Amino acid sequence: MELLDGKKLSQQIKEEIKLAVIARKDNGLKVPHLAAVLVGNDGASLTYVGSKVRSCEQVGFKSTLIRLEDSISQEALLSKIKALNSDLTLDGYIVQLPLPKHIDEEKILMAIDPNKDVDGFHPANFGRMALDMESFIPATPFGIMEMLKRYRLDISGKHCVVIGRSHIVGRPISILMSQKGNPGNATVTLAHSRTNNLEKLTQKADIIISALGIPEFLKGDMVKEGVIIIDVGITRVADENYPKGYVIKGDVDFKDVALKSSYITPVPGGVGPMTIAMLLKNTLLSCERRAN
Ligand code: NAD
Repeated sequence: MELLDGKKLSQQIKEEIKLAVIARKDNGLKVPHLAAVLVGNDGASLTYVGSKVRSCEQVGFKSTLIRLEDSISQEALLSKIKALNSDLTLDGYIVQLPLPKHIDEEKILMAIDPNKDVDGFHPANFGRMALDMESFIPATPFGIMEMLKRYRLDISGKHCVVIGRSHIVGRPISILMSQKGNPGNATVTLAHSRTNNLEKLTQKADIIISALGIPEFLKGDMVKEGVIIIDVGITRVADENYPKGYVIKGDVDFKDVALKSSYITPVPGGVGPMTIAMLLKNTLLSCERRAN
């Protein structure tokens, strides 16, 4: 079994981005600028946005954190989005989800200029991705593909089972894994909460990508020998033995499944750090595309 070390790989990718920023500066070009919009005070969202902003600093990007009150109206948020769309200094921005209940998330995401949508959530980007056109690929699936590429894992013709059909992970990764290319060319089964006899599918899979959010859901007896495991799940499980009062668990029962795997991502330190690195990559790409 070999660990797919997302932490190490993401540091390598950040280092490459940092060098690209230095080269841009040396050539008198603009430094990439990412903004993050955070509505309210949700603890997990604050942590995520905080680490995105810190990562921008690490690679030499300009970053702007826009914090808005929980009580902001949909109209006020939409006019903020409009202002960000027309801000020529910005290469990209993200709106941290979830938004408060009184705000229609879809309306907000639809209002983002697709050319600044570095999260890749806008239908224009999703459609372009599905058609193999230049787009912004959502950071988590983008990170998984980059990981498979850099570890030179041969997935062509292999059977991949994706568990979970969310718009940000499961569905896009199922499209990317089946697309023509390298990595790609896998035969994909997309499983979800209504799938019957899931273990019959996972037991035959060469690659399993799990994005469902149930801690330690995938057990050793559900996989075959030599399987490649990509664990996207991140769930906080209460545990008084840890200083924070919780421990982070993936979807995979690691100690059980690792014994049968050829490659496996740990949680934490697998897909998570890759996600942030690829958000930075999308911002750099946006900056380069805007200059052309
Ligand atoms: P989600 O929470 O929107 O949806 C979960 C999916 O799992 C649904 O499509 C559902 O059909 C499926 N599902 C639920 N129970 C199932 C079952 N018993 N059998 C088969 N399928 C089942 O999904 P999400 O937003 O993609 O999040 C999934 C997990 O990934 C969460 O733990 C989330 O925190 C994590 N996540 C991690 C990253 C990262 O950077 N590592 C990024 C995004 C999400």
